[in-house]
Amino acid sequence: MWAKQARTKVVATVGPACRDEQTLRRLLQAGVDVFRLNLAHGSHEEHARTVATLRKLSGELGQVVAVLADLAGPKVRLLPLKEDRLELQAGQEVWLAREPGNVPAAPTQDGPAPAVLGISHPQVLDALRPGHRVLLADGTVALHVEQVEPQGVRCRVVQGGVIYSRQGVNFPGVHLGLPALTEKDLEDARWAAGQEVDFVGLSFVGQAEDVHRLRRLLEEHGSRAAVVAKIERPEALDHLEAIVQAADAVMVARGDLGVETDVAHMALAQKRIILLCNQYQRPVIVATQMLDSMRHSPLPTRAEVTDVANAILDGADACMLSGETAVGQYPVQAVEMMNRIAQSTEAAFAAGCTRSGRFFRRQVVHPVTAALVESAVHIARDVQARVIVVASHSGRTALALASYRSHVPVLGVSDQPHVLRRLCLAWGVVPLPEAPAADSRRLCAFLEEKGLAAGELSPGDRLVMLRGTRLGAVQNILVVDEVGRREEG
Ligand code: PEP
Repeated sequence: MWAKQARTKVVATVGPACRDEQTLRRLLQAGVDVFRLNLAHGSHEEHARTVATLRKLSGELGQVVAVLADLAGPKVRLLPLKEDRLELQAGQEVWLAREPGNVPAAPTQDGPAPAVLGISHPQVLDALRPGHRVLLADGTVALHVEQVEPQGVRCRVVQGGVIYSRQGVNFPGVHLGLPALTEKDLEDARWAAGQEVDFVGLSFVGQAEDVHRLRRLLEEHGSRAAVVAKIERPEALDHLEAIVQAADAVMVARGDLGVETDVAHMALAQKRIILLCNQYQRPVIVATQMLDSMRHSPLPTRAEVTDVANAILDGADACMLSGETAVGQYPVQAVEMMNRIAQSTEAAFAAGCTRSGRFFRRQVVHPVTAALVESAVHIARDVQARVIVVASHSGRTALALASYRSHVPVLGVSDQPHVLRRLCLAWGVVPLPEAPAADSRRLCAFLEEKGLAAGELSPGDRLVMLRGTRLGAVQNILVVDEVGRREEG
């Protein structure tokens, strides 16, 4: 199918609820464009099996699919708890231990006994001072630091709740001094390069140099993977413009961002990130809790539906599912629902009711390319083209076109298979495999033949074809082709 139902891309996280071949196939058929492997969980062997299955399914279904390997980053986590879960009560004493088992947690006369918790990067305890806040269980459990001792940090629970083994620990506003790439990340990045994944997610990016460092590492290992900068801490917001320019794509990682910064600022931060990404023509993914209730319910809440729609209207290229597909009870329904919301919301682009297509664009592509991209969108609308085909060597012309949110469907072709897979994140661009991208005449003939055979085109239909400068031509080329009667202009 050339024109996928929804133009907004869907990223789905793979986990125990969906990693069997049958469910992955159903997810692909339901419209997943990019599968995310969360390297904070699971083994390399397990993830490699998923990559192999996805490649097989992509070939079988003739559907281009991309893989995003998401590095865990320097996320501080709880060490395993004795019973895997622990209830903390308001007022209870909690020790964050440098070495669990070596903490003088004295039993109290009344009230619950002090709890001793081990954490994955105990060196961060050096940065804590009395008065700092420590958040557990996605921010739902809050501790107040009272005293820093050689063996650990004594805290008091101010907001009680249940915590589980391996959950994240956040220290809002505290500079922990951890590098953006840990030893495990370096090892995982080398593994991802070996698997030829298409995107690598950089967690807890702080500045543009973090992005450059990961890209250098990937290149040293022969990988052309695109780097996705995950914006999830205040430092990244401080250096946002440089990070957006340095990255190939960006993720609004709302899970950690909503704990590391005041959750009340989330909506404006998200809009600012999306706008900058649109201006620089970097695909932007909005992630976390988009349809969260669908982990346990076949239907989302009204608020979730509106959240997805607003992200799309603001300019998100992709929406991500995390627990919904990784561990939820309704992974396929969640993808179908995401597509339905997207499809319904995208009608607003056709009606011209959003700002997309009308904001100030930074100079990302050559000015001639920029002018032709904009013209292609207008011409396609004016001649009532059935489809716009963009032939792109680096993917930049296709991304520039995606930023116009063209109502006319867009097909992306490239002479570079890895670029074709990158287009899985470009709004509205359906990557077409095996097209003769470098030759305009052959490409038009190929599209006509395939389109007629698939019932996507009829004689007399018009195609607009746009070609970037680096693909077999010194100039950009814009062609209007009529099925059965070819013309160039
Ligand atoms: C997030 O924090 O929203 C996110 C996507 O990152 P992770 O799931 O790796 O914590």
